Amino acid sequence: MKPKEIVIVGGGSSGWMAAAYLNAALNRNGRTVARISLVESPDVSRIGVGEATVPSINHILAVIGIDEQEFLKRVDGTFKQAIKYVNWLAIDGSQYYHPFNRFRDSPIDRSGLNWLMSDRSVPFAHTVSAQPALCEANLAPKMAGPWDFGPPLTYAYHMNALKFADFLCEISIARGVKHYLDHVTDVEMAENGDIEAVVTRHGHRLEADLFIDCTGFAALLIEKKLGVAWVDCSQWLLCDRAVTMQVPYAHHYPGYVRPYTTATALSAGWVWEIPLQSNRSLGYVHSSSFLSDEQAEQELRRFEGDHAAQLDTRIVPFKVGHRAKSWVRNCIAIGLSGSFIEPLESTGLYLSDLATVMLTEHFPYGDELEPLAFRFNRIMTNRFYEILDFINLHYCLSRRDDSDFWREIQKPDRITDRLKAKLDFWRSKPPSPTDFEDQFFPAMQDTALPSGGLPGDHRSPKDTGSLFGVDSHEAILYGMDFLREECAQWFGQSRPPTQIAETIAGRLKIAPQKLPPHDWWLQRAVGMPVYESASTPPDSEK
Ligand SMILES: Cc1cc2nc3c(=O)[nH]c(=O)nc-3n(C[C@H](O)[C@H](O)[C@H](O)COP(=O)(O)OP(=O)(O)OC[C@H]3O[C@@H](n4cnc5c(N)ncnc54)[C@H](O)[C@@H]3O)c2cc1C
Repeated sequence: MKPKEIVIVGGGSSGWMAAAYLNAALNRNGRTVARISLVESPDVSRIGVGEATVPSINHILAVIGIDEQEFLKRVDGTFKQAIKYVNWLAIDGSQYYHPFNRFRDSPIDRSGLNWLMSDRSVPFAHTVSAQPALCEANLAPKMAGPWDFGPPLTYAYHMNALKFADFLCEISIARGVKHYLDHVTDVEMAENGDIEAVVTRHGHRLEADLFIDCTGFAALLIEKKLGVAWVDCSQWLLCDRAVTMQVPYAHHYPGYVRPYTTATALSAGWVWEIPLQSNRSLGYVHSSSFLSDEQAEQELRRFEGDHAAQLDTRIVPFKVGHRAKSWVRNCIAIGLSGSFIEPLESTGLYLSDLATVMLTEHFPYGDELEPLAFRFNRIMTNRFYEILDFINLHYCLSRRDDSDFWREIQKPDRITDRLKAKLDFWRSKPPSPTDFEDQFFPAMQDTALPSGGLPGDHRSPKDTGSLFGVDSHEAILYGMDFLREECAQWFGQSRPPTQIAETIAGRLKIAPQKLPPHDWWLQRAVGMPVYESASTPPDSEK
């Protein structure tokens, strides 16, 4: 078989993830299925803000063959076991966790129902996972020596995505990926409508069978050349920019590195706190219709405290939406050129990762592209809307009314029809696993995909439920106090105290002997510097 030629345009984290993964997954056992080149512009900067990930990143790392400790050293990485949401329900310090691990102690999982039947005196996530308490104690999800703490704790990472791209670049080049540091100035078309070649400023003309557009929001191939439309979803997710800030530990070390991401709701959006090894990355994701850049910057500085007055900030605009089709003819858009949903559940790198894995699974060994593209597009669109609904859910259940933004976000027009159907259904019975298998949400059956439906694809808009299933939905729904009134009707006003499963309580009892502090693990295992704590930790109260 003659190897397929692949040209990737763009060297951000998507471009290099695609290069390294395709090379590792396709070219195995001495057989070269694909010859890969990557061209990236020295003039157009990449996006890197200090990213949080989801556990699927571990698949990418395993296939490429990256050692975890080496990875953490190279990407300024730390562990992430959960997201902690603060002030989303009301502006009263209320908080809840979305942990990665979920405990089950019987073949039929009644933990959601048990919690609903109780008096809610313990937050839901604490009753089904040890991770919220482990996060509060700042413990690592790893032991200092071999693991003997029962079932493993599921985790992802916080990382510097630019360092990740650089690391993957080094690995890819060493394994034979050709690298051009050059600006693409032209895209040449073949007579049949395929892309034939990209041409660079320094005179390279790169022909290929497949072109992967990883040029970020510029979307040089898929949009500028092939004219594939961007389907805007800003009606449902209003945030369109972030003001970011890096708080270096050298001067502002609060005395711990949290093993989780914090998402605190502010007046017109929310701020992420992503702990890296060398600093804390902060970003105020907000809506420019409700807040100017200056107001957002001031609010972020107030949030962080006096010491933030001198720290630099940066504005990062973004748009929420997806390509009508990510794979058209011989061009596949991966990364920000293909889709973006605001970063609340850390799905940016995940969508690049998914597209790369799906391209490998749907790789065209022959000449026929159309059926592969159809299936690929359907998977990517379904997953996009699944995530869109899930992020929409975080906002629409809020009871905040302290700003125009929060009042607007709760209006019916700001909630997707699919999510409305799901919430209505779950008001008649709580969510359960099969809801996510056959997607039985009665009101959804005749709803068309909002302006993003694929031609010839007249299916009902079904979610796949495979990234955010029942566990994740329960964490958000019950964290946001869903079904409070219904439960009073169903189960009465006076309900028994909430119980934590004995297995979780037992695990938490021995956790301090088994699991080291997250900082300590990072210092010992991957050489994180030992910082001096600030005398008055600026965010010890948060
Ligand atoms: C505010 C914000 C917060 C985010 N937070 C998270 C998070 O917490 N977790 C997460 O998983 N993801 C997050 N993301 C997403 C994540 O940062 C991106 O998915 C990631 O950076 C991938 O971007 P990319 O590689 O698609 O594009 P980019 O990083 O923009 O890279 C584009 C590449 O294309 C090249 N290029 C452009 N034009 C040309 C040309 N003419 N010729 C050659 N090369 C060209 C550029 O040089 C660059 O190399 C966030 C994104 C934003 C905007």
